[in-house]
Amino acid sequence: MKRILLSALLLPSLNLSADLTSNLNNNLDLLMEKVIEWRHDIHEHPELGNREFRTSKKIEEHLRSLGMQIETKIAYTGLVGMLEGDLPGPTIALRADMDALPVEEKTGLPFASKVRTTYLGNEVGVMHACGHDAHVAILMGVAEYLAKNKSQLRGKVMFIFQPAEEGPPEDEGGGAKMMLEEGIFDRYQPEVIFGLHVTNIANGVLVVKSGPALAAASAYRIKIKGTQTHGSTPWAGIDPVMATAELIQSLNTIVSRRINIINNPAVISVGMVKAGTRNNIIPEDAEIMGTIRTFDPELRKEIYSEIEQVAEGVALGTGTKISVEFDVGGFFPETYNDPKLVDAMKESLMKASPGRFVESNIPVTGAEDFSYFSKEIPGFYFWLGVNKPGVGLDSSNFGERTDVAGNHSPYFYVDDSALDEGLRAFVHLVDDYPDKF
Ligand SMILES: [Zn+2]
Ligand SMILES: [Zn+2]
Repeated sequence: MKRILLSALLLPSLNLSADLTSNLNNNLDLLMEKVIEWRHDIHEHPELGNREFRTSKKIEEHLRSLGMQIETKIAYTGLVGMLEGDLPGPTIALRADMDALPVEEKTGLPFASKVRTTYLGNEVGVMHACGHDAHVAILMGVAEYLAKNKSQLRGKVMFIFQPAEEGPPEDEGGGAKMMLEEGIFDRYQPEVIFGLHVTNIANGVLVVKSGPALAAASAYRIKIKGTQTHGSTPWAGIDPVMATAELIQSLNTIVSRRINIINNPAVISVGMVKAGTRNNIIPEDAEIMGTIRTFDPELRKEIYSEIEQVAEGVALGTGTKISVEFDVGGFFPETYNDPKLVDAMKESLMKASPGRFVESNIPVTGAEDFSYFSKEIPGFYFWLGVNKPGVGLDSSNFGERTDVAGNHSPYFYVDDSALDEGLRAFVHLVDDYPDKF
């Protein structure tokens, strides 16, 4: 009782014109406890793209409990929640991706995933190796915070939980592109969008890069056909394995020797090689899959034609038949962060993580299908460092090689203590946007 009286007495000296962020600095602990619990649960139950049924259900129940208007089953498992503030203002979209990766977790965490499934014909582990579990939990937390403070919220917030950011199963389509094709922007009319990604830089650091921020990504597949024979008599057949080895070597000369990358970085990687069933059989077929990362559409075309030329050359030299496909399972455009928006809104990120904000000038060769959203309306995409406190690079050497396991590693680690900076960042962006635009 005494305490209540005292605080009542103290009230007049406090800032009575409470704004949306005044509760951010006190009493965030309880909410963060929930966010961390959600994240651990989602981490332990990861689901691949277009199969995020459990994750989607969990989000739906949460948004419903907050009294939000919800649309589900968008692009298979995606959902949108609309929160209307009590004050007039714009519609701001915030996006989190929900899918995990075919990676067998090796973190040894108590809530590590033990989930297994079949992926491209192989039995694989499933893991939130890209940290999308953190993205979902943070955005669920933002939804709760804003819903509980909606008397101070100007305009509407559109919460987008999207499936299959890592790419949908090949014959299905999905992700941001499909959500747009199913009309979410037409129905809800957001005027701006923000997205966040966790990564292996110093704890709580927020990074944004104006303009081209992430590369365009295209998956390619090369099929090599030979003639099967006994391993003891290779001359009796045509060896697709040898041709595959040659192809991999030659593919790696494209960026290093055949194109000019002075102003336009590019990457070609091989991520998958398949051939054979037994030590003493030279197989009939082999297959390579990999990814191409570029920032310039012209250079991308050039790389496609270089790959075709290399394939033709190897086919000719080895007697194999080689076919090349690009944009397998879709294409991810370059992620472009609207410079005017970055300029106006970076202050919000500074407020979210004082002293730990960096405006980077280094584009990242990772890719994001957030790019489809930010092609439609102004938007930006920023990074949140989630290393253990005191570990690893700060954002000044963002993009450099580091000894801390990165995204897609079976050891990728998200420290819970960094999640509140992500939550704060979104709330500050929502709070500040109506003053700037
Ligand atoms: Zn990823
Ligand atoms: Zn990711």
